[in-house]
Parts: sequence; C-alpha cells; structure tokens
Amino acid sequence: MINLILFGPPGSGKGTQAAKLVEKYNLVHISTGDLFRYEMGNNTPLGLQAKAYMAKGELVPDSVTIGMLLNKVESHPDAAGFIFDGFPRTIPQAGALDEMLAAKNTQVAGLLALHVPDEEIVQRIKLRGNTSGRADDNDESIIRNRINVYKNETSPVYDHYAKSNKSQTINGIGTIDEIFGRLCDAIDQLIG
Ligand code: ADP
Repeated sequence: MINLILFGPPGSGKGTQAAKLVEKYNLVHISTGDLFRYEMGNNTPLGLQAKAYMAKGELVPDSVTIGMLLNKVESHPDAAGFIFDGFPRTIPQAGALDEMLAAKNTQVAGLLALHVPDEEIVQRIKLRGNTSGRADDNDESIIRNRINVYKNETSPVYDHYAKSNKSQTINGIGTIDEIFGRLCDAIDQLIG
C-alpha cells in the first residue's frame, strides 16, 4: 500500500491537487473536511457535532474525527493506498493513523507539505469564499483563526513524520500543473 499525507495550511491547494493525484496514482482520497461537510449537509448527528467547531475555524474534537476517519478507511478494504487530506491535523490523530496502518502491516510513506505564505492563503480563501458557499471562507477573522490553529495544533504533525524522515516541503506557489509536477516528482521518488 502507498499511504500519503497531503499537508499544508487551509487554502494551500490540497483538495485541488488530491483530485489530480488520485487519478494518476489510483489511490483513495479521504478529505476529513469534505466528510464533515457531507455530514453537515445531511444534518446527521456527526454533522451537527462538527458544525459549531467548523464555523469558528476550530478543530473538531479528535474523538469525533478519528472515529470517522477509521470508518472511512475500513470502507475501502481493497484500496491500493490512500491520500489523506486534512488528516492528521493533531498529534493524537497522527498516533491513531500510525496505529491503524501498523495493524494493516503498512505505514505512512510520506508527508508532502504545500508551502504557501499566510497573506497568499488569506487572499485565496477569500476568493474561494465567493463561490464555495463555506461560512468559514467568508470572514477574515475566521480564516486567520484557521491559520493559527494550523500553526499551533497541526504543524507539529510535520515534525512527527520528520523524525522518520518522511516529511518534505513542496513549494505551493505556481500554476496548478507546476505544483502537481512537484508533487509527482516527490511521490515517484517515494514509490520508485
Ligand atoms: P481547510 O483546510 O481549507 O481549512 P478543510 O475542508 O480541510 O479546509 O477543513 C474545514 C474544517 O473542518 C476545519 O477548519 C475543521 O473545523 C474541520 N476539520 C477538517 N479536518 C479535521 C481534522 N482532521 N480534525 C479536526 N477538524 C477537522
């Protein structure tokens, strides 16, 4: 199995790139943000639990997020591998992912972190807000809170995988195809 973590701050282009990567590498894309939005849209108990946190730009509690992620992985028993997008976002989530993959005799192959400066992120998310319909994309203070949460709670996940030399930073500025090319080069090295 090839299990990749697509990492980076909100608005760094993870969703766009993940969609292109799954086509090329035949992996299953799991986006916790998309899963939460789906649950919210259907007013499920899980969606209702997540809603208040997402609206503020806070993280949904690990207990909720980890359970949802594990279920999703279990629903793809024949996957050749996964691209995790928006997960893990905390150290406990990383621990849960590592354990789950170890139980399947596999592991994280690499973490690819898209690097985009803060001001560019704010501009991109505001622009996306015009069409995404996402409340958390339409308020600058919420966008800045998401960036702070990323720095405080999520960036330690980069260091966690750096300990086993699995983390690498990819320049997230350029055209979609340029960035895709950089990611593919990194992945080809990993699986080559
Ligand atoms: P972005 O990366 O653009 O902020 P996402 O769609 O990945 O957007 O996530 C949107 C929101 O969903 C986050 O701000 C958070 O509230 C919630 N969320 C997504 N993934 C996680 C996670 N792994 N742990 C906790 N909350 C999450």
